Amino acid sequence: MHPFAYTRASGTREALDAGRRGGRYIAGGTTLVDLMRETVERPGNLVDISGLPLREVSVTERGGLRVGALVTMAQTAAHPKVRTLYPVISQALELSASAQLRNMATIGGNIMQRTRCTYFRDVTADCNKRDPGSGCAALHGFNRTHAVLGTTDSCVATHPSDVAVAFAALEATVHLLGPDGKRGVPFADFLLRPGNTPHREHAIRQGELITAVEIPALPRPLRSGYLKVRDRQSYEFALTSAAVALHMRGGVIREARVAAGGVGTVPWKLPAVERHLVGERPSDALWTAAAEKAAEGARPLENNRFKVELLKRTVERQLRVVGGTK
Ligand code: SF4
Repeated sequence: MHPFAYTRASGTREALDAGRRGGRYIAGGTTLVDLMRETVERPGNLVDISGLPLREVSVTERGGLRVGALVTMAQTAAHPKVRTLYPVISQALELSASAQLRNMATIGGNIMQRTRCTYFRDVTADCNKRDPGSGCAALHGFNRTHAVLGTTDSCVATHPSDVAVAFAALEATVHLLGPDGKRGVPFADFLLRPGNTPHREHAIRQGELITAVEIPALPRPLRSGYLKVRDRQSYEFALTSAAVALHMRGGVIREARVAAGGVGTVPWKLPAVERHLVGERPSDALWTAAAEKAAEGARPLENNRFKVELLKRTVERQLRVVGGTK
């Protein structure tokens, strides 16, 4: 591990000052410390923000939910409002990592976690994300777990977060605080597709801090849930996953929110699937036809062609689980 300085911020202003001077924020540290041990990350100055007052879950005036950036994964998953209003979030969190990690890792850190691409974590391998311009060892290497959507010749890595898939489906907003004040970034714009600059992963500006993730109020009743498909049943990342939320009234789907994980370079929203569902009545035929649209635009690699069919089946299964069949 490379030498680094450590400061514990006693307040938001102190944290922002340190961030503006190039300090790197750390809270649970469950990803960053791993990457520092492997020398993939070499921050010179760590700013511990775990003492900041960002640990609240609250219902917004409009009936949405605001989750503070430092609320842990376990606290978020267990919160009665999250469980009641958005079970898809609780389920995504409880299917992530281990109990120990969920007790340490925060919501802000979770959406900022970096890819599990093995070449990214091997400092001897070519990797445009870690070392811009060096190439992408995964492109023609072992790429079974890599992305089939949103890829470029520069990078084919997936984003590893489960709860980010739920946030993408629900069209959450990431709230930031920085030297220029507060701003909210729609989740769809927060995590960046690789393009030819895969080292740029998010929309955060120098010195900005995530303060909360806000989930908008959606029409009630809202049924939702998360399905994760992986090689083993615990402590494993998704090969494919699906976050589904449906508002139904009078036996008709009025609103649909659907996103997939494990297949995209960012959590992958599925607007074509959503459009196919709205205005229709639940049926097996509807779920199958809608899920067929989930893999539109997929570009599989040599070792991950199976993901195209698996994605469609994952979405179909979760539509049926959430929407039922009449
Ligand atoms: Fe690096 Fe992305 Fe290629 Fe993996 S897929 S080696 S993270 S550039």
